[in-house]
Amino acid sequence: MENDGTSDQEVYELETVDLSKSFFGIKAVNGVSLQIKRGSTHALIGPNGAGKTTCFNLLTKFLSPTTGTIRFRGENITDWSPSQVVNLGLVRSFQISAVFPHLTALENVRLAAQRRRGRSFDFWRSERVLKDLDETACNLLEDVNLLDVRHTLAANLPYGRKRALEIATTLAVEPRMMLLDEPTAGMSHDGVNEIVALIRKIRRDKTILIVEHNLSVVEGLCDAITVLARGKVIAQGDYSTVSQDPEVIEAYLGAPERSVSFGQHQEENA
Ligand code: ATP
Repeated sequence: MENDGTSDQEVYELETVDLSKSFFGIKAVNGVSLQIKRGSTHALIGPNGAGKTTCFNLLTKFLSPTTGTIRFRGENITDWSPSQVVNLGLVRSFQISAVFPHLTALENVRLAAQRRRGRSFDFWRSERVLKDLDETACNLLEDVNLLDVRHTLAANLPYGRKRALEIATTLAVEPRMMLLDEPTAGMSHDGVNEIVALIRKIRRDKTILIVEHNLSVVEGLCDAITVLARGKVIAQGDYSTVSQDPEVIEAYLGAPERSVSFGQHQEENA
């Protein structure tokens, strides 16, 4: 479907057609066709080794596909560079916006905002520019509830707040679509709830693609889910559709660690 962004129905922010990536003859991603609606929060899930990370790397151009096409906002970006796709508004958390541990939270977000405005060289020349960037950075820090620690070195922030800072630096480059790679990994129950609340707050006018192993998070946050197994899409739809799909259940049951979480989650919801 050629998408000119003028139709209200089925406007896809990101589409792939028959996307594949082989490593030494093994297909890590095998004929994946995704349609991610503009403004949706879409999850990519699957057991270990399903191809989720490879897919993310293809979408953000860290890897080139063996075959297939990728369209972002109707533009064929298959052969684009990582920085070109960032400039078009497709940004992966931790991609451009690496958090520098020895800079403060404010300095980190200001640097990311500076990059977006393309003022890397004349930045320090104008006091007004500096003030504008400070204001932008403070607004973003407020959005992610980090304003109170803006002068703290990133290295000294607790884990959950570091993830929030990473999200703020991603937001600073003004993405239209954000790709979040396991944003709740390694977090306590409270930390998970905080990140979920944060994603709800910042997603407003954005499209989000999220790789997430925590199925409660996926269920609570995502409008649509694509399930991968062995590089292929085995199911797509809302949570209740995919969670009842026999192929999905089998894929999770075949992968001990993940199957346990899917099984437990289903029981919790029974
Ligand atoms: P996990 O949930 O464990 O992170 P995943 O769904 O992200 O898994 P991928 O990391 O994309 O899965 O891996 C898919 C398959 O591709 C795996 O079999 C993996 O070993 C293989 N693979 C990924 N990257 C490479 C690479 N650079 N070279 C060779 N094989 C790779």
